[in-house]
Amino acid sequence: MDRRTVWYDYLFKLLIIGDCGVGKTSLILRFSDDNFMASHLTPIGIDFKLKTIDIEGYAIKLQICDTGGQDRFFPITQTYYKGAMGIILAYDCTDEKSFNSIRNWMQQIKMHANKNPAKVLVGNKCDRPDEKISTEQGEALARELGIKFFETSARTNICVNETFYHIAKDIKNKILGEALGATRIIRVQKIEEPAKKKGYCV
Ligand code: GDP
Ligand code: MG
Repeated sequence: MDRRTVWYDYLFKLLIIGDCGVGKTSLILRFSDDNFMASHLTPIGIDFKLKTIDIEGYAIKLQICDTGGQDRFFPITQTYYKGAMGIILAYDCTDEKSFNSIRNWMQQIKMHANKNPAKVLVGNKCDRPDEKISTEQGEALARELGIKFFETSARTNICVNETFYHIAKDIKNKILGEALGATRIIRVQKIEEPAKKKGYCV
């Protein structure tokens, strides 16, 4: 059995949302498989990908859910948001419409997602020379929403890992912050050494 796929400290469910065509499936494939497909080969969607990463000594298994192509044919349903601990909001920096949609996607999160999931804003396709949304515009929107901003390229692999590591770290900090007392007790018990024999001296 492959130890890496079995043992982990935490399982985090992540979602990636944004208009159709912004590069959601491509970002997931770049992060999980370090792969980018030419446009005619890009799958419409996948269900999810798993990847285990190390965050400050914790093995964190990420389940990254794609829309399965649902974004192309139907509105994304409420069940998609269920159990999401982190949500990546993505727009295409060559497509103004997708940038303007981000506020609507934030509304969807408020209506359907868990209370206060970790969030990050991503301006994808920054490798393209015909950028219409500047870095400053992306940063300003992220500031307004109170979340962190990354400009990414799934194609040339810019800031894709950083985005996923950032959101995973954010969730880890939230979880440890909320469950601090319990976690500490468990860890102290784990490392407690057996009592030494009487009369024995090193
Ligand atoms: P989705 O509908 O949001 O899942 O978007 P896809 O991942 O299917 O990507 C839509 C199109 O954009 C495809 O033709 C991809 O090859 C292309 N694409 C995705 N990410 C990038 C990127 O970072 N740079 C460039 N230049 N093209 C990208
Ligand atoms: Mg897709």
